Amino acid sequence: MATQIHPMVDNGVKKGSPSFAGGTLTCKCASNPVTVKIGSNVAFNHACGCSKCWKPQGALFSIVGVAGRDKVTVTANGNKLKIVDEKAPIQRHACTGCGVHMYGRIENTGHPFYGFDFFHTELSKDAGWEEPRFAAFVSSIIESGFPPARMGEVRARLKELGLEPFDCLSPALMDLIATHAAKAKGTLAA
Ligand SMILES: [Zn+2]
Ligand SMILES: [Zn+2]
Repeated sequence: MATQIHPMVDNGVKKGSPSFAGGTLTCKCASNPVTVKIGSNVAFNHACGCSKCWKPQGALFSIVGVAGRDKVTVTANGNKLKIVDEKAPIQRHACTGCGVHMYGRIENTGHPFYGFDFFHTELSKDAGWEEPRFAAFVSSIIESGFPPARMGEVRARLKELGLEPFDCLSPALMDLIATHAAKAKGTLAA
């Protein structure tokens, strides 16, 4: 049996639609669910191995991507949301009923990803979200208790799924962070 990564990709990565214009996320509460409307497609969608992202029971990775924070609107039962950790750079707004993270927001305007909200497209029934395209923080699954000796299997499976594994973020995102730092330092023109 192939190593389980996440239910959304374990049977192969399903391509999204380039013309998809957004949809609604719904938490897992049976009654009065929190809903969040995303007014655009997802960008930088990826599998994440960190221990902070929400993921379904049994999944090794989360699937997480971003949209502009101006595209993200809580449309129902927002009173159930609570920030998981106020001090974390990404403040994850979780449903106090079911525990699902509805969106993560960065409030520090100096953060390289300020302006992007993080969210999980699997919470949406709408079809067409851009598919996950890489895997980030792969080595971090060890911190959640995954046996280091089996990391080869995991990386091989990610590659087989077309999710290039990285132990930090993807080169495009690492370049964004470095560009932000260089502009802040003045080594690159702002
Ligand atoms: Zn809920
Ligand atoms: Zn993560």
